[in-house]
Amino acid sequence: MSSLTLDHVTKVYQDDEEEVVAVDDVSVEIEDEEFLVLVGPSGCGKSTTLRMIAGLETITEGEIRLGDRVINDVDTQDRDIAMVFQSYALYPHLSARRNISFGLEQSTDLPDSDIQERVEEVASMMGISDLLDRKPGQLSGGQQQRVALGRAIVRDPELFLMDEPLSNLDAKLRAEMRTELQQLQRQLGVTTVYVTHDQTEAMTMSDRIAVIDQGELQQVGEPLELYHEPNNLFVAEFIGEPSMNFFNGSYEGSSFVHDHFEYPFGPQIDDDVDGASDIVLGIRPEEVVVLDDAAVGDDPDHEYEMDVTVVEPMGDQNVVHLSFPGTDDMSEDMVAVTSGLREVAEGSRATIHIPEDTVHVFDNRTGDALHDRQLDLTAQTLQL
Ligand code: ADP
Repeated sequence: MSSLTLDHVTKVYQDDEEEVVAVDDVSVEIEDEEFLVLVGPSGCGKSTTLRMIAGLETITEGEIRLGDRVINDVDTQDRDIAMVFQSYALYPHLSARRNISFGLEQSTDLPDSDIQERVEEVASMMGISDLLDRKPGQLSGGQQQRVALGRAIVRDPELFLMDEPLSNLDAKLRAEMRTELQQLQRQLGVTTVYVTHDQTEAMTMSDRIAVIDQGELQQVGEPLELYHEPNNLFVAEFIGEPSMNFFNGSYEGSSFVHDHFEYPFGPQIDDDVDGASDIVLGIRPEEVVVLDDAAVGDDPDHEYEMDVTVVEPMGDQNVVHLSFPGTDDMSEDMVAVTSGLREVAEGSRATIHIPEDTVHVFDNRTGDALHDRQLDLTAQTLQL
């Protein structure tokens, strides 16, 4: 097992006359046995990063180390890495058994009986023991994915690299496989780098998440750290579903001033925002409170009348879309998440509360976070 270090790694593709900077000076250290998820929108450089780690792509600048060993110029087959792709990449003419054993047969001198023993062991771990004699065409998508994972696991590598391995599965199977993969990784203790564009996979599976945008690393941290303390607007918007609400406005005399509302800041936020003029107020949908009549007026400076435009019942919760009275610009809507048992009627007028300890403030010019919501993560964890 090993740690993995990306040290100022850059990849520039020469595309005709044009240079494309796919990965821009990325540094991150992945600890031994850690599960790191690289997440970002399509085209942000995730696969290129993974392919450089795998040795399938040259590195333009910087260094990649597996443990203490620099692997920039080490051939893929000598890196002791196993990859799992979205496309499974199984050999169609070989049985599941041979698909799993093939790599071992090629790369080791293990006797056939030892290889078969390992294949059986891994197949049992993956729940596919009774499918080993089928060819990929006779297996469902989920079963093929298990074979592809089995093929990676059987090699007992120093590092797993996974590129969107669950994208081809239906939603229910994907959720099941998320849990299984995570358990498997813990059990095997193999350092893992997992690429996805899906923030839910990043949040639920990882020890830490690295968020990338346009080839640049935006933030690396534990899921809840990114969720509650995003470094910038990009991370704040990317992590969390539904997305954080953002309002553009200005900072005037200790208040956030928006076209449709004003939000007075207390001394803490005032201190943090000091100096900025063009700012963005952020509030997560689950922190927007749709007030019961009895609670209206408890914090009048931070309460607003809004129209309920759409209610999406999810069962456990309602996603409530709200607009400021007199506006029909949907980009200025606010989304709130309420309990599924709470009745909120479409077309009604509601009073909503934005508690001051839950707001985020960003500098609109740089995108940097100026103030994060107030939360003592340690205290929260201890209470659990
Ligand atoms: P992601 O995996 O996040 O979707 P990629 O790593 O595949 O993104 O691509 C990052 C950027 O590099 C994109 O702008 C893409 O168009 C560009 N790119 C990827 N491969 C090549 C290539 N072989 N030649 C030129 N540009 C490439």
